[in-house]
Amino acid sequence: MSSYHIAVIPGDGIGPEVCKATVQVIKLALPKSIHLGFIEYPAGAAHFLSSGVALPDSTIEGCRNADAILLGAAGLPGVLYDDGTEAGQDTTLRLRPELDLYANVRPIKLYKGIYGPLKGDPAIDYVIVRENTEGLYASRGKGIVEGSISARDTMEITRKGVERIVRKAAEICMQRNGAPDDGKRRVTICDKSNVLRSFAFFRSIADEVLSEFPEIEVNYALVDALSMYLVTKPTYYDVIVCENLLGDIISDLGAATIGGLGLADSSEIGDQHGLFQASHGSAPDIAGKNIANPTATILSGASMLEWLGRKHADKLLLQSASKIRQAIATTFIQGNTLTADLGGDASTTIFVEEICSQLTLQNS
Ligand code: ATP
Repeated sequence: MSSYHIAVIPGDGIGPEVCKATVQVIKLALPKSIHLGFIEYPAGAAHFLSSGVALPDSTIEGCRNADAILLGAAGLPGVLYDDGTEAGQDTTLRLRPELDLYANVRPIKLYKGIYGPLKGDPAIDYVIVRENTEGLYASRGKGIVEGSISARDTMEITRKGVERIVRKAAEICMQRNGAPDDGKRRVTICDKSNVLRSFAFFRSIADEVLSEFPEIEVNYALVDALSMYLVTKPTYYDVIVCENLLGDIISDLGAATIGGLGLADSSEIGDQHGLFQASHGSAPDIAGKNIANPTATILSGASMLEWLGRKHADKLLLQSASKIRQAIATTFIQGNTLTADLGGDASTTIFVEEICSQLTLQNS
């Protein structure tokens, strides 16, 4: 019997709802010979309001000692530090450097049965690999405000940071089947190198690393042009690598093209630790209404099982992840149990029940 310990941070808004759904689905997908122990830890905006701390040290330690971390969502608009930034954002923005979760991997895939906003529902299937520990967000808490006159945040790009994120992007590219358009393995370096030296530096190091991968076509895109191309020709893209803030922005754009944030999962991984959460935030506008789409978190949970399975050479974890992906794909193809964001009328509970009955069918 193998046993793994998962730190769960339910967080704020819809976070607890989508976390609960994911734990329910994972438990059903696992064979009896695998035990996952889920231990909850507090963090986020609500915790900040009740305790004065958004991310307690005990939660950081719990995450450090866990085999993997599952996070709902953290942060609430209006729950702010004195400097005007959101307190709950510390949950992820501090865990990332603390646990060196340098690669934020965000698949953008249009599922069969889901109708995105783009004409003809193109076969979108690419991955955004967002640098997760430096870039402009490295300035969080360190920006300088000079009274009411000016303010400054500094972008940090290091050789080490670019080398490892671009290498990760290349590795992911080598495991895929190329861009949907032409089957070519392609890594797009997204930046704004025509304007800022830091981005030109990012591009030059990225070029160096990618020259080690002759099988991969290197493609360059300025972030403003890419924002257009992800709408006009998304099937051209295979893997996109970029700085932290740019990755944050284009992830939401990509999510919109595949049916919305409720479908966009993400894995935040380093060499030791892995944190898994949806790309979306805490969606306070729909929290507590039992209408949130838990798919993005459930898919992140599947990625968690895959990451653990590869790390520990545990095939049963990989099989469980594959069952979850299959259950979601079948539910979408059948199309009669969809949440409101996808045009359906199923509650979160009903949607999760459908995923669970698909899993039970696979088990029988
Ligand atoms: P953050 O900056 O913390 O990532 P955000 O500003 O991107 O957050 P979200 O909380 O992700 O904002 O919500 C953006 C919109 O998407 C909201 O209208 C929200 O209701 C919707 N949304 C987000 N996640 C889901 C979901 N799982 N199911 C349905 N709708 C969602």
